Amino acid sequence: MTSVGVLSLQGDFAKHRTILSRLNVNSKDVRYPGDLKGCDGLIIPGGESTTMSKLLDTTGVRTSILEFSKSKPVLGTCAGMILMAKRVDDSSVHPLGLLDIEAVRNAYGRQVDSFTADLRVDSDGDPVSMRGIFIRAPKIKSIGEGVRVLGSLNGDPVFVQQGRHLACSFHPELSNNTTIHKYFLSVVEEPTLVK
Ligand code: GLN
Repeated sequence: MTSVGVLSLQGDFAKHRTILSRLNVNSKDVRYPGDLKGCDGLIIPGGESTTMSKLLDTTGVRTSILEFSKSKPVLGTCAGMILMAKRVDDSSVHPLGLLDIEAVRNAYGRQVDSFTADLRVDSDGDPVSMRGIFIRAPKIKSIGEGVRVLGSLNGDPVFVQQGRHLACSFHPELSNNTTIHKYFLSVVEEPTLVK
């Protein structure tokens, strides 16, 4: 049975686990290197990327995520997306470099500038609409050649995929819409089919 790890160092990891259980998928907290054992995919939640970046090193879990990501899918949401980027505008974040994107922290403004927006998401040629919740969200400033844009807002990419890895700048775990999680689970279940 599929089991998805959720990085639970800081942030809204519990909300991701709630969505996974609603989708009848096993999940577990990942806090230490050994915790990824038996996981088929990993979700890195929203929160504070600077804090999570430090905790990745103090717990030693950074090295195991890098190893895990060579064969297993990873989904990052908001701060999780910042951590998955190759380049981040803020040197206090030491990202994992799993996606060839440049992330700019807090690019839509401060907490008071948080907003929701209608998005069109196209992961499989059958576009769906969903409401995106953006909280001190990052922007993707540039993307490399191998990165597919699956969702955008006013011309900016907000949901991207590179191989088996996915990231979005909004919070799918805070809405009732399970489109993003379902798509991630389809990649987790068939990582070899990834374009
Ligand atoms: N602004 C946060 C950061 O830079 C991300 C916010 C979030 O995850 N909601 O880490």
